[in-house]
Amino acid sequence: MAGDQTELIHAGEPDPRIGGAVVPPIFQSATFEQIPGSGYHDGRYIRLSNTPTHDHLHQKLASICGTESALVSSSGMAAITSTLLTLLGSGDTVIAQDRLYGGTESFLSGEVQRWGIDVQRFDACSPGTWQDPPAGAKVVYCEVITNPTCRIGDLRAVAAWAREHGLVSVIDATFATPVLVKPAELGFDIEVHSATKSMNGHGDICAGVIAGKAKLVHEVHHCLNHLGGHLDAHACFLLHRGLRTMALRVERQCQNALAISRFLEGHEAVSLVNYAGLESHPDHHRCVELMGGRAGGVLSFDVAAGAEEAERIATSMRYMATAPSMGGVETLIIRPASSSHAAVDPQVRRAMGVPDSLVRIGCGVEDAADLVADLAAVMGERV
Ligand code: PLP
Repeated sequence: MAGDQTELIHAGEPDPRIGGAVVPPIFQSATFEQIPGSGYHDGRYIRLSNTPTHDHLHQKLASICGTESALVSSSGMAAITSTLLTLLGSGDTVIAQDRLYGGTESFLSGEVQRWGIDVQRFDACSPGTWQDPPAGAKVVYCEVITNPTCRIGDLRAVAAWAREHGLVSVIDATFATPVLVKPAELGFDIEVHSATKSMNGHGDICAGVIAGKAKLVHEVHHCLNHLGGHLDAHACFLLHRGLRTMALRVERQCQNALAISRFLEGHEAVSLVNYAGLESHPDHHRCVELMGGRAGGVLSFDVAAGAEEAERIATSMRYMATAPSMGGVETLIIRPASSSHAAVDPQVRRAMGVPDSLVRIGCGVEDAADLVADLAAVMGERV
């Protein structure tokens, strides 16, 4: 296997090239001629995610993720919800990590429960605390790096535990990307991504990815067709383009996040820094083992003076836009309590490690020195 960046450019590309085009062209057509004698299932239609543009992107994503199969969707949430709706039905139980992205958390504590699906929690970082799953358990769900607390669970053990109990293991790998870790190699059945973030990497589309075992991805594809959660062809083209530079961007984002984390760790106004690239982080050993020490482009920190000061910091930066999301070329800063986790019950939110005074930074690819100087200026310290 070639290096990461070589694979991202060359793996899964159409062969032979379409019309000789070095960049795969975009098929911006909602429907396609039926071949005489072919059946309904042979037809190409954009909602069925089977245009040539989708096919090429699926092939490329499966190569990049190292999975049997891959599928794109209209958003990360479409990837998550269609996967869980495929795997779960009334009377089933999903065993979900106790710290998750706010959108997933509100889906699990809202719609999922209304549909008669039970949700039980587990701490992915502490295998010693895991109980035998209940009779109706079907799925284990977790994140590679949790948003925004940046915890990394004992992921090999999670996948093995799911297998041992006949459960489907699903992992959200948005913060890690396939550049840092390939969940299929850790034993996971399905991975989901918000490709809105580092996969596309330019903050200009909303997209999701589901990748994993062919049979399971095929079932999710069927469900996604009914839910209408396909990705538009033009967005497919942009995602394909973004993927080609993902390793370069992720590498730089990791360097920036580490530089900022080191600065914040020594700052008197900060009571806690969540970034697994720091030796002081409780999951640093897993970050080293699973990701070669690269902890991704997102970090969060708790402002000792409270939410008001956290808000002032998050809204005063020169090079960091106050906006949700992450993974683009621009650095973004926000308080999760007012954005990604705003819909989560405040008590639950605090129990998940997300106080109102927590600030999250999603690093872009600017120069680390400028980002650190920006923070130092706003937080009143020379660097
Ligand atoms: N998963 C994680 C870890 C996220 O951070 C997000 C969004 O921030 C999502 C899923 C949802 O992605 P999208 O906004 O593309 O639906």
